[in-house]
Amino acid sequence: MKTKTKPAEKEKDTKSGEKNLKGNQNIALERIYRLFELAEGNDKYQKRYLQLAKRIGEKCRVQISKELKIKYCKKCYSMKVLTKEEKPFLVVKCTECGFVKRFGLKEKK
Ligand SMILES: [Zn+2]
Repeated sequence: MKTKTKPAEKEKDTKSGEKNLKGNQNIALERIYRLFELAEGNDKYQKRYLQLAKRIGEKCRVQISKELKIKYCKKCYSMKVLTKEEKPFLVVKCTECGFVKRFGLKEKK
């Protein structure tokens, strides 16, 4: 009786094959978020984690979301940054190397 589910399984198989790429990107995103979490709680390996997160993003063609981007300095991978709103920008300044990044502020609906 249990064998009745076989044709359905086949359908699933072809579909999941197609979705595999997107699945990988989801995993990559999860990893990136995890790495950022780890980096926040670990001063010693912070820069290493952030470099890894960035590399994963590049490899899997995943964009690191803005909320994460404003948390670190892309130049020295430090998380010691100051964020300040200067409309229409969000200014992120690194306290370690002085690098300044500007993000456009988008109004949320
Ligand atoms: Zn910096």
